[in-house]
Amino acid sequence: SASAVLRRQRLRESAARTYARSFPIVPVRASGMTVEGADGRRYLDCLSGAGTLALGHNHPVVLAAIRRTLDSGAPLHLLDLATAEKDDFTTALFESLPPAFADGARVHFCGPAGTDAVEAALKLMQTATGRSGALAFTGAYHGMTAGSLALTGNVAVKEPLPGGGEVVRLPYPYGYRCPFGVGGEAGAELSATYVERLLDDPAGGVVPPAAMVLEAVQGEGGVVPAPDDWLRAMRRITAERRIPLIVDEVQTGVGRTGAMWAVEHSGIVPDAMVLSKAIGGSLPLAVVVYREEYDGWRPGAHTGTFRGNTLAMAAGAATLRHVAANGLAERAAVVGDRMVERLRALAGELPAIGDVRGRGLMIGVELVDPAAEPDACGARPAAPELAVRVREACLARGLIVELGGRHDAVLRLLPPLTITDEQAAAVLDRLADAIAAAAA
Ligand code: PMP
Repeated sequence: SASAVLRRQRLRESAARTYARSFPIVPVRASGMTVEGADGRRYLDCLSGAGTLALGHNHPVVLAAIRRTLDSGAPLHLLDLATAEKDDFTTALFESLPPAFADGARVHFCGPAGTDAVEAALKLMQTATGRSGALAFTGAYHGMTAGSLALTGNVAVKEPLPGGGEVVRLPYPYGYRCPFGVGGEAGAELSATYVERLLDDPAGGVVPPAAMVLEAVQGEGGVVPAPDDWLRAMRRITAERRIPLIVDEVQTGVGRTGAMWAVEHSGIVPDAMVLSKAIGGSLPLAVVVYREEYDGWRPGAHTGTFRGNTLAMAAGAATLRHVAANGLAERAAVVGDRMVERLRALAGELPAIGDVRGRGLMIGVELVDPAAEPDACGARPAAPELAVRVREACLARGLIVELGGRHDAVLRLLPPLTITDEQAAAVLDRLADAIAAAAA
């Protein structure tokens, strides 16, 4: 039974599991946006595997690509040997990327998770620049790995890397909880000015880093879209100082933000893009795409066992092409705008909603304590306990919503790009009802 499955897994698996605690259900079937539990209950899934399922669960186009590949007899696992499936995925990927970035770019298939691609991109830029260290941002999320290369003993296989790098943390332009006590675009301008002055201050303590790494819309950080002007400022500031810019599109990619890639909104051309999640069409796949001038790796400089699983490449190619051919990024923009508009209207009725943010179908609803005093920017203290109650109330109403943000008080909506108008309306009805009930 479902309760026995939950109990056994709780006993046998790591205590670090989170989702199984937040959502004590045992899914047995899923299709599109709907997940069905072992108890027969159906849920609208706004988590989508943390943004992985651009086309929802078990999309027929993805299933057909996987079945076709299985039936073809192609080897499923091949390290990084050349295959038709890899060739086809790379073609689909490069066709989907902004031409100014993709023309002459190189792709590196790495371990299958987002964090693997972030590691690879950092290492690539360390090799290319001979520098260590990185610039990153408050609220950033890039992964969970730490340190396996340091344990590897055979120095012959180790790329000589400058050691001892530091991460310098810079203020992300979070307009609602403003790092400078000034909201919106004005706060973002202050952030850009600060970054530039800090880098140029000979006593600022910043050693020239191997790269700047940023998300155009922070996901785990609480769905915080950076203003386009700020992103353009980061591109200018890094270019002027010859600091490679790595944009992490692990969560924002494949139509999620209302463009195929989030960099398209601001038009910035990064030096590298880190991609995972949706590019595998629900199977594990990750790559770094980078400008060819950074291609300083010798053969064997960065290897790994799982680099481009055949089924994942087939599912990913099918997903990329389906999103592009059906204008799903554009549709995400339209549906997302409509959802944000309705949520903002709802905020007028429900004072526990402090802020509604979004870009495409990456939407965040920040919950606050309506009884507390607002700060200088008008933000009230975050309400993480309320957020947990809302998540539970959502689940009870057949809606899967995860939390994020600095205080874990942001409801994150990441529905598939295929969400119908009826489903979007149902999500908002259930969410409004859950917030009203939990805040009462
Ligand atoms: N970067 C971003 C922007 C992410 O959102 C995530 C995962 N949520 C990662 C990197 C890490 O990906 P993974 O969990 O696959 O290692």
